[in-house]
Amino acid sequence: SEPLLRVERLKKYFPITSGIFGKQVGQVKAVDDLSFTVYKGETLGIVGESGCGKSTTGRMLLRLIEPTEGSILFEDQEITRLSKSELRKVRREMQMIFQDPFASLNPRHTVEKILEEPLIVHGIGSKQERKKKVQEMLEVVGLSSYHAKRYPHQFSGGQRQRIGIARALMTRPKLIIADEPVSALDVSIQAQVLNLLEDLQKEFGLTYIFIAHDLGVVRHISDRVGVMYLGRMVELAESENLYNNPKHPYTKALLSAVPIPDPEYKQEKQLLVGDLPSPSNPPTGCAFHTRCDACMEICKTVKPELKEVEEGHYVACHLYS
Ligand code: SF4
Ligand code: MG
Repeated sequence: SEPLLRVERLKKYFPITSGIFGKQVGQVKAVDDLSFTVYKGETLGIVGESGCGKSTTGRMLLRLIEPTEGSILFEDQEITRLSKSELRKVRREMQMIFQDPFASLNPRHTVEKILEEPLIVHGIGSKQERKKKVQEMLEVVGLSSYHAKRYPHQFSGGQRQRIGIARALMTRPKLIIADEPVSALDVSIQAQVLNLLEDLQKEFGLTYIFIAHDLGVVRHISDRVGVMYLGRMVELAESENLYNNPKHPYTKALLSAVPIPDPEYKQEKQLLVGDLPSPSNPPTGCAFHTRCDACMEICKTVKPELKEVEEGHYVACHLYS
């Protein structure tokens, strides 16, 4: 399949300032040298603990946050160098779904107004056509046209996320970046929303980047999964390979924390010990070395690069070099 999005050596460093003059005393490397490709029609899961840079990455792809360095190519167009008006055109094709739909929906607007807004922003359709598109989209996400005149607080969490999804789809985007879209929902509702996202992917030929903090959630929806740790990708592979044959000690530890429904399946247990180090003062060498029980001398000083160790299976760990 063809690439839709190519991210190369992407970095985001946030300054740490101190005192009334805001003197810079350090920096947080929230995203540090990240490269990956997203292919048309696939779902790429991106997983990591909070603070690993996954949300910052998602926001940088839409330039809601400006990258410090690096390249973002969407259909061969360099996103990082676009002017405001050029960026608006591209935003029509790339949309985001947020973790907390309530916070991202204007409480004073009806659902109709919320869904119509992206069409107005992008100058799509007449008033009449826009109304019709809103009605159609409500049905598509499993709501009804009589919901159009209601306000966000009149809906359940699951319904609000359906509204968030509908809003993201109004401009018929190609790429959806979903940042923990089901984390705030009850487990029973999570499955419904995930199924909806899968149906919509088929119906509209969508490509997804699906961000989550736990490997369990992205398992079934993702074709490939990337695992991030302190701003870097430490492992990237097809879902099956990542879950059945994890290579990086951090991925193994994350998987040990996911309950396995099949009791016959023997899991290599690896406990995640210690706290996540501060991103403002990350460990030298391999950033995971302070928590890794396979740590060697080289790990403390030399940063492992992400390398392809089997076809399509990338790992950043000295155990494999
Ligand atoms: Fe562990 Fe070393 Fe691999 Fe890092 S590079 S994950 S410290 S074995
Ligand atoms: Mg987050």
